[in-house]
Amino acid sequence: MAETNANGSPKANGPHLNGTAYPFVDHRYDVVVVGAGGAGLRATFGMAEKGLKTACISKVYPTRSHTVAAQGGISASLGNMGEDDWRWHMYDTIKGSDWLGDQDAIEYMVREAVPAIIELEHYGVPFSRTEAGKIYQRPFGGMTTHFGKGIAQRTCAAADRTGHAILHTLYQQALKHQAEFFVEYFAIDLIMDEEGACVGVIAWNLDDGTIHRFHAKMVVMATGGYGRAFFSCTSAHTCTGDGNAMALRAGLPLQDMEFIQFHPTGIYGAGCLITEGVRGEGGYLTNSAGERFMERYAPSAKDLASRDVVSRAMTMEIREGRGVGPQKDHIHLHIEHLDPKVIHERLPGIAETARIFAGVDVTREPIPVLPTVHYNMGGIPTNYHGEVVTLKDGNPDTVVPGLMAIGEAACVSVHGANRLGSNSLLDLVVFGRAAAHRCAELIKPNENPRPLPKDAGDLAISRLDKARNAKGDIPTAQLRLDMQRAMQNDCAVFRTGESLKEGVGKIHALWAQRDRIGVSDRSLIWNSDLVETLELDNLLYQAVVSIESAVNREESRGAHAREDFPERNDEKWMKHTVAWCGEDGKPRLDYRPVHLQPLSNEVQSFPPKARVY
Ligand SMILES: Cc1cc2nc3c(=O)[nH]c(=O)nc-3n(C[C@H](O)[C@H](O)[C@H](O)COP(=O)(O)OP(=O)(O)OC[C@H]3O[C@@H](n4cnc5c(N)ncnc54)[C@H](O)[C@@H]3O)c2cc1C
Repeated sequence: MAETNANGSPKANGPHLNGTAYPFVDHRYDVVVVGAGGAGLRATFGMAEKGLKTACISKVYPTRSHTVAAQGGISASLGNMGEDDWRWHMYDTIKGSDWLGDQDAIEYMVREAVPAIIELEHYGVPFSRTEAGKIYQRPFGGMTTHFGKGIAQRTCAAADRTGHAILHTLYQQALKHQAEFFVEYFAIDLIMDEEGACVGVIAWNLDDGTIHRFHAKMVVMATGGYGRAFFSCTSAHTCTGDGNAMALRAGLPLQDMEFIQFHPTGIYGAGCLITEGVRGEGGYLTNSAGERFMERYAPSAKDLASRDVVSRAMTMEIREGRGVGPQKDHIHLHIEHLDPKVIHERLPGIAETARIFAGVDVTREPIPVLPTVHYNMGGIPTNYHGEVVTLKDGNPDTVVPGLMAIGEAACVSVHGANRLGSNSLLDLVVFGRAAAHRCAELIKPNENPRPLPKDAGDLAISRLDKARNAKGDIPTAQLRLDMQRAMQNDCAVFRTGESLKEGVGKIHALWAQRDRIGVSDRSLIWNSDLVETLELDNLLYQAVVSIESAVNREESRGAHAREDFPERNDEKWMKHTVAWCGEDGKPRLDYRPVHLQPLSNEVQSFPPKARVY
């Protein structure tokens, strides 16, 4: 292993004097993975295992990535606790996606799920167990048997701390395979060459202020979602979708950004997540009359209908005056009827979260909950190998050389218009692994990478320098709050043309205020004001494309519920939105077709039908 700095990151060559106040420290790798969440770590050690010289860059310590907070579990049709079949999992995922998911990618994911989980078990993930010693599996929303007829027990869990268990195991594997980590390095922008290929990335070492130029044959974006574009969300403060914004600035589109998942059970006020696993273990929702209202909205799946359906039902109850609490503005989630032993064994984390953030003893009283932003179905479009694709010269599947995207940053698209619970952790490991396989095929360790262009790094440096010296009158935190409020109010669970247009107006006005931002700290060492300013800039790019894509899509599908267009319109809208956005903040939209053909002939395409639970 290379010589290391005090923070454990490898030492590089001396600085490259590029004529600016920001000399580059240069590095060269076969693969650079940006992000050390579940997706990034799975890819990183997969690459290293295949003999590729691999670096992983993360703005936070790897095991603090948002994946650590995942609670409920990871899906796979193991059939440990009842019959199951990957075809049923495939059907559920397609139906959950409201027929916007690509069926080839979905087939790949659900089939690879089984070996991927067994592999995790062998790596050492401490899954909960059945009496017989098999991996414990719980029911989750939208997961069924026999193509919607029964309820499947498909979600593998390590109590209610599955993400924690998986992330730590993956990090151990990455260390074992000697991947090199650049921890607390903030990636600013990609380096693209004249032909539109990605050749590297620029990152800022938050600890000593140095700027690093990574030259690579492949850059893998594993930077996670952008929940923080909203006021109330379950995701960490670091979930600012930096990779998505880097893709936009590199001239690439983002896909399906109008589809934003609201989780039905965020704690009222705090926004922290109460896993769907709670309802999987027998928890249920009630309104102010004490009624189990989900029986009216989803007669067969009830509280385990898919997330968009439950979130809308809760919003309807509140709107019609049946919310709980003095303001009648939230809903109750009950587990007091469960055996305390079950709570202690299967849901210890949520008992603690409810106590700390809602002041509730779950063995005695209900938890106050409200739909809260939870997941971004949209992201950087890829094929099922993880390669980034774009629409070019009429070809919707043109591969962008040198660039991959995986995890929540990517839109493969396996989740389409709505992700099923426990399919994201699966997506991370399956496509993290697929990306490693693909790199092993594409990259020859002895070959030289494409040369760096003359202006390599200029974009990143000019943005960094501008933000660092920003002397305007609007603090970053103020502009961020205004953006989060606008998105929360106007790009919500239910949307109308009117509210969306109002939101578009607000977001564009806020975009214009980017030039009035003021940063008070000019240093390059642990300058959190500057980090947050760069993150806010990234969030604004995504807010613009999300709300413009939402106002453009005149139908209701999955998480995108338009009151003015309440029906799904397959004839006109069964297609992916792709959106580009440059420095002017004016997105350009186009479309890519949905892949309706599965990968193999062992299963047939699932034709669209009405989505009822
Ligand atoms: C509270 C909660 C519970 C959840 N529970 C479940 C569940 O039970 N089951 C399920 O399937 N899904 C669950 N999800 C969803 C799932 O956990 C996430 O979608 C998934 O963990 C995202 O993983 P990721 O690897 O894509 O990104 P993350 O885990 O978010 O990691 C992103 C990484 O990118 C790095 N990064 C970002 N920007 C930069 C930058 N500019 N420079 C350098 N590094 C950068 C970060 O440091 C981090 O390492 C849950 C989500 C939340 C918020």
